[in-house]
Amino acid sequence: MSQGALRRPGLDAAQVERWLSLVCASPDAHRTTQRSPLDLEPTITVPHSTEDDVDRAFADAHAAQQRWAATSMRERARVLRRFHDLVLDRQALLCDVIQWENGKARTHAMDEVLDVALVSRYYARRSARLLAPKRRRGAFPLVTRTWELRAPKGVVAVISPWNYPLDIGVTDLIPAVMAGNGVVWKPDLQTMLTALIALDLLHAAGLPRGLVQVVAGEGPVVGPMLVDRGDYVQFTGSTNTGRTVAARAAQRLVGCSLELGGKNACIVLPDADLTKAVDIALRGAFVNAGQLCIGTERIFVHELIADAFRSALAAAARDLTLGANIGWGSAMGPLISPAQFARAEAHVRNAFDKGADLLVGGRPRPELGPLVYEPTVLLNVAEGMEAHRNETFGPVASLYVWRDEDELVQRVNDTEYGLSASIVTPSVRHARALAARLRVGGVNINEAFGAAYASIDAPMGGMRASGLGRRHGAEGLLKYTEAQTIAAQRVLPLAPGRFTDEQWARVATLALRILKTLRFR
Ligand code: NAD
Repeated sequence: MSQGALRRPGLDAAQVERWLSLVCASPDAHRTTQRSPLDLEPTITVPHSTEDDVDRAFADAHAAQQRWAATSMRERARVLRRFHDLVLDRQALLCDVIQWENGKARTHAMDEVLDVALVSRYYARRSARLLAPKRRRGAFPLVTRTWELRAPKGVVAVISPWNYPLDIGVTDLIPAVMAGNGVVWKPDLQTMLTALIALDLLHAAGLPRGLVQVVAGEGPVVGPMLVDRGDYVQFTGSTNTGRTVAARAAQRLVGCSLELGGKNACIVLPDADLTKAVDIALRGAFVNAGQLCIGTERIFVHELIADAFRSALAAAARDLTLGANIGWGSAMGPLISPAQFARAEAHVRNAFDKGADLLVGGRPRPELGPLVYEPTVLLNVAEGMEAHRNETFGPVASLYVWRDEDELVQRVNDTEYGLSASIVTPSVRHARALAARLRVGGVNINEAFGAAYASIDAPMGGMRASGLGRRHGAEGLLKYTEAQTIAAQRVLPLAPGRFTDEQWARVATLALRILKTLRFR
């Protein structure tokens, strides 16, 4: 475990002010100073948006959206492809700022850059086909010509958390914009600069100014203002907040997509390769210091290899390079804030107090940084302990031993969450059968979380208390549209016409019987 000298991003103050001016807020706005999790020193002073500012953001986004909805899909895709290149070109700046605001290891900041490029390319290539008008069947062949059209919702409210400050907000607004919408985006206060640089790059890529608006402020103050105005709400955050967002959106009968918390399991089968299993469990549990919604908080290892796995996992966790710095070299950074640090500590203390044991970790490391906490694995975590069912969202995992697969499935599913899981085994066939029994939105076989998440063509999201709706794939685009059906009747009316009602009933019945015999769908 090591720490080099603290480096700060070499940002020009005038440039930072220019980025901050992208926040929809008045010049005399109330401002709050944010602090870096690396050293708790000030980073930027963020202007807060008032209700008038939020009104203005929606009005301006709406005006820009009217023009944007008339642009060709080719032009929209061109913007995304340029954005793809700009994000890859400016990766050093983006990683510096993500690390400064969020504290994560650079390799995890880079994951965000790569994912934004991946999603940009995917929707640049796929959106035109997914949004094109589709011919649909009418009730009777040749009698009705039917088309399904997709219209933008209008202005989408995007609310995003601090844990993946570039990736989550940006990859949610990209499909919204591709579908012809405007966006009002509220990133988390702690990671505003990352979001503003992303907006600047979108402008540089050719996105019309005004189409995506950024507002800032405390979540419980500004968040509801967005929910009250958006034509659709895309929310990522905790399950508790997600419930309030859904209830509020329901009052206005606007749709919402909720990407929420998890208590994800890594399952190690008896035939798993030990080295691979340890690597997957370790990455799943300690990526971004455990602050990843699809990260691992519960590890279930089969009894046949439990002893060897336990000691190998403990050794690997001890070997992880911790650090609070900007640059390469550490595998795990600090937690984002004193509050998040306190939550991880409290879960560990609560488990201890109630009889759990420690396999590895369990200590703060202030000499490395004020918010650095050791990668921690708990043993004998049981019912009634905080860490048993509740999401810790820190570098704390519980290790359980299992024997019987039916009982394993029951234990894995025994939580209100249902976001993600991983299974380690050489037998993909076995893993797929097991995966189908898990009540989670994504299952990774022989990978910690990235295989499913980076499959952008497939839906990503949670079952049960982990969410509502999906991002990625066709669903991640079409949710930002209203379906419209246009049907033109020709040849015959769908009504008695020249027949009496009784004759029409007989004719229609006969027609339906014939269509079934002809296997007409
Ligand atoms: P949070 O719910 O506190 O905040 C998320 C966002 O909502 C922030 O922008 C916040 O300012 C805003 N907000 C807060 N109160 C609000 C309110 N009353 N109305 C509207 N908006 C409000 O969550 P967090 O602690 O910032 O993020 C961590 C949580 O997010 C974890 O539970 C994690 O699992 C979850 N998460 C889920 C996914 C996913 O894709 N499923 C991805 C990342 C994070």
